[in-house]
Amino acid sequence: MPEPIKIIFVGTSAAVPSIKRGQSCTAIQFSQETVLIDVGENAQQAIQRFKVKIGKKLTILLTHLHPDHTLGLIGILTSQEMIGRKRPIQIVAPKGFIEFMKLLFRAYGIRISYSLQIFEIRESRGALDMGSWVLEWFPAIHFDPSYSYVIREKDHPGRFNIEKAQQLGVPKGPLWGKLQHGESVEINGKKISSEDVLGPSIPGKTIVVSGDTSPNEELIEKGQNADLLIHEGTFPAEEQEKHEKYKHSRTIDAARIARRANVKRLVINHVSTRVTDHRKEEEKLREIFPDLEIATDGLEIVLRYE
Ligand SMILES: [Zn+2]
Ligand SMILES: [Zn+2]
Repeated sequence: MPEPIKIIFVGTSAAVPSIKRGQSCTAIQFSQETVLIDVGENAQQAIQRFKVKIGKKLTILLTHLHPDHTLGLIGILTSQEMIGRKRPIQIVAPKGFIEFMKLLFRAYGIRISYSLQIFEIRESRGALDMGSWVLEWFPAIHFDPSYSYVIREKDHPGRFNIEKAQQLGVPKGPLWGKLQHGESVEINGKKISSEDVLGPSIPGKTIVVSGDTSPNEELIEKGQNADLLIHEGTFPAEEQEKHEKYKHSRTIDAARIARRANVKRLVINHVSTRVTDHRKEEEKLREIFPDLEIATDGLEIVLRYE
């Protein structure tokens, strides 16, 4: 079975951080790489505290350039330089990001020697092949340009049948590895394909990230049946008007969207201090969508394969 995916809620506050909550940052840890979604102020230190691995393959997805989602970025990039990073860092961000970075680099007088591979989103909707997963984006209903993301992991090869491989005369060793990775091998002139020795492929997981947004019908469609929805819930369920004015959602909107998108699990982040009693708020919301949590900093969710 593939290693489970770990999602770590590094920072969960809306806009203003509090003693308990740092600004937006969520880490998705796959076995071979980490994806950070937004990097608010203090993300660097929280990443260490919550043991998020960023030394290997790292991709940073920015939903938008508001400071509560980007203040920690320069800190991470420069610290990586100081500790001698060689591997590149990939960044996907809305239009305007390259200009924004140029200004910051110039103002701070900094340079980095590893490569930054930046993909600036120019089309309002699209998809990018990221290797073992596909990134889809579409507009969030917030201040332009802001995006919601769908992270669709590709399917994993099925279980390797050792007995079958031995019956077919494939010796233990590198050839097994090839078959496990979906390649064909040749034994005494006979071609053996991976399908001969692998069980049915294991479906990849889908994670949807709302970013800052008003409730969005498109997210319901794009996030159908996702394994995990991470949705902002800046305002408490009973808020009447401010959420619309500031283009955010209430916790109850997140629960309704999770229900309509038929996702397996919901975690609400980007929570303001207006949401005072989490347990009570969660109880209320569970009448709409049972499998939900309001995130606190350090919350870990594990997505396992059956
Ligand atoms: Zn925000
Ligand atoms: Zn925002």
